[in-house]
Amino acid sequence: MICPKRTSELLDLHLAPFKDKDPAWEIGVSKIAGRGVVATRSLKRGEIIFRDSPLLIGLAAHEEDSLNACSVCLKMLPDTRFMCRQGCGLPVCSLCAKKKQHKSDCDLFKSWGPNEPDVANSVIIRLLCVARAINLSKEQRDLIYCLQANLDNNHRTEVRNAAKCFKNFPTDKKLIEIMNRTVAVLRTNGFDKTTDRTNDNQEFNYRALYPLFGVVNHDCIPNAYYTFEEKTNNMIVRAAVDIPEGFEVTTTYTKLFTGNIARHLFLKMKKSFTCKCSRCSDPTEKGAFISGLYCRDTNCTGLVVPEITGLPHPNWNCLVCKQKSTHAQMMKSQDFASGAINAKVNSNSLRTLVQYLNEKSDSFIPSSNYVVIDAKMSVLQRLQQGREDCSEELAHNTRLRYSRDITQLMDKLGLGDSLLRTHLEELLRREEERRAKRLADEAEKQRKLAELQAKAAEADKLLEVLQKEQSEQSEQAEPAGTADPGTAPAAPPVATAELA
Ligand SMILES: [Zn+2]
Ligand SMILES: [Zn+2]
Ligand SMILES: [Zn+2]
Ligand SMILES: [Zn+2]
Repeated sequence: MICPKRTSELLDLHLAPFKDKDPAWEIGVSKIAGRGVVATRSLKRGEIIFRDSPLLIGLAAHEEDSLNACSVCLKMLPDTRFMCRQGCGLPVCSLCAKKKQHKSDCDLFKSWGPNEPDVANSVIIRLLCVARAINLSKEQRDLIYCLQANLDNNHRTEVRNAAKCFKNFPTDKKLIEIMNRTVAVLRTNGFDKTTDRTNDNQEFNYRALYPLFGVVNHDCIPNAYYTFEEKTNNMIVRAAVDIPEGFEVTTTYTKLFTGNIARHLFLKMKKSFTCKCSRCSDPTEKGAFISGLYCRDTNCTGLVVPEITGLPHPNWNCLVCKQKSTHAQMMKSQDFASGAINAKVNSNSLRTLVQYLNEKSDSFIPSSNYVVIDAKMSVLQRLQQGREDCSEELAHNTRLRYSRDITQLMDKLGLGDSLLRTHLEELLRREEERRAKRLADEAEKQRKLAELQAKAAEADKLLEVLQKEQSEQSEQAEPAGTADPGTAPAAPPVATAELA
């Protein structure tokens, strides 16, 4: 384990620009793994725990990306003539071309001699974030070396491939080692462009390393969440729940709604550790049953969950009839349900998908199962872009119902604040407001109708009285014989009818 004290000193240097004199955190020995970030005072839900700035940041430049973004300010550029005229092989805007950062990038890459400096090459552009480690100060580089790095067989591939894009790529072992190590640290702790919104990540378009955040350990029910400031790309980490003094600050490396087994595998494969958090140790996942399935006995309505946690192929148990099933048997049920639901997710009709989730899927998969939640999330996401073939009524009811379903599951899991929760609660609030307004409008309409009906009834009554009076008058007038029989008006029809 790298000494918490040294990590702390290097982080203090890195965070000095924020001038936080009384930080709410410190680096300490972690109960989860090695060292971690610990709250030095009790923190209220929503409170900022710390800010972090990127030690390294660059364009993600995935092959499928458009590469016309400035390598310094990261802004998109018009897609003509955006490459540096000096032949460094990097895209740069005219303003940033004169900045110190580009001068240092430019000198470095020019000295390596890109094969085709005028052509935007994703490998070269992506490497910049890594290569910048070479020109960092000694303390900054030490900080990179302080962070966890998964030094597997693949971590050298990136630099090896990039070398082919330059004529004079350095052969100096020390330089190559710095870059390889940086790749490994970035892969273990860094951020890379992600468009996957189900992971509760704010959309992030770059490749970057936030060193303090890199020390935050994982929990499947994290007590903190982060956002990025758009202008500075600084990160803000907030308390997702109240955090007592001395408790470790945690984040999640996985999606919030994957089942125990899938999370376990992901963390093992990608992050090389076994999570032992309270959610991972509970086969029911705090009663949220994210991986729960129906009992194979069709007469039983019980839910089936893994017998014990932490195994890749556990036996499963029905919580009601106690029937045991093998992992393969239960995976058959899960695969069938996933296949059926994903086929609807991938179909073009949003209405069909919603109707399927509302009326059909519950007969073969519990609504708490992750495949149903994922499908509901994708419905909400599609509804955000437009109603597609859903009526306004259906869209409205669906937003209301699904955001409620998902937040209820979050509550069951004990998940506090997150970007996803903020988003869902906002959706719920808007839809509830709309519903309340509609109900109020409807009530007002009814009230007006009743008022009109009352008035009409009153008018009818009045008319009746008038007509009665009139007919009584004409009855009295006739025997007096004042009217000229030749010009006497006919009796009013109503009165006639009444007399008849
Ligand atoms: Zn720029
Ligand atoms: Zn240049
Ligand atoms: Zn866990
Ligand atoms: Zn059963």
